Amino acid sequence: MIDITQFPESDANWSEDHWKQFIDFLVESGLATYGQICSAALGQLNPPQVGTGTTNIVKHNYPHRKVWQNVKAWFYERTGKCEDCGTRLDLQTDHVIPREEIGTEADKLENFTLRCRRCNVIRRPSHKQGGVLHLTTAAALMWILLTRQPQTYQEFKRMCRAYGMTMADIRFQEAWALAIWLNREGKYEIE
Ligand SMILES: [Zn+2]
Repeated sequence: MIDITQFPESDANWSEDHWKQFIDFLVESGLATYGQICSAALGQLNPPQVGTGTTNIVKHNYPHRKVWQNVKAWFYERTGKCEDCGTRLDLQTDHVIPREEIGTEADKLENFTLRCRRCNVIRRPSHKQGGVLHLTTAAALMWILLTRQPQTYQEFKRMCRAYGMTMADIRFQEAWALAIWLNREGKYEIE
């Protein structure tokens, strides 16, 4: 079994080789198969559903029946990467200038860009701490649980706070479910 306890303390310092070995760890631990991991990545690689989502948002600024044509032309012009971090995974459309500032004028295609979910969250004023985190919250919760293996919920919560998470406790309580499920199968130690 791969000893991930020897890996760098912070995920920000993990090399590509550490992440590669971590995939092997997830498979060896029986948490997911290689096929399932690839399926998750492929699902996130699939471009966002602008045909319904964005088309609906911008429709009042374009001639009826020409909306999708305009959205599609805009969409194909993009690089297909997150404007901020460059990933191709988990992309969403996002206003450049928010609607709160310029109203319905914001809903024109030239005011849209593609960002990944994580970078989108960081930009929201309600998530001022977002930029501190290297992973998305969901990914970081699982990273802490699986690499640190805290044996009590309180310890897990403390680790999440130390990592820089500022959201409500309920997110930690939800994530702790995996520890309980794995514990029931003898794959995770709880005090
Ligand atoms: Zn990004």
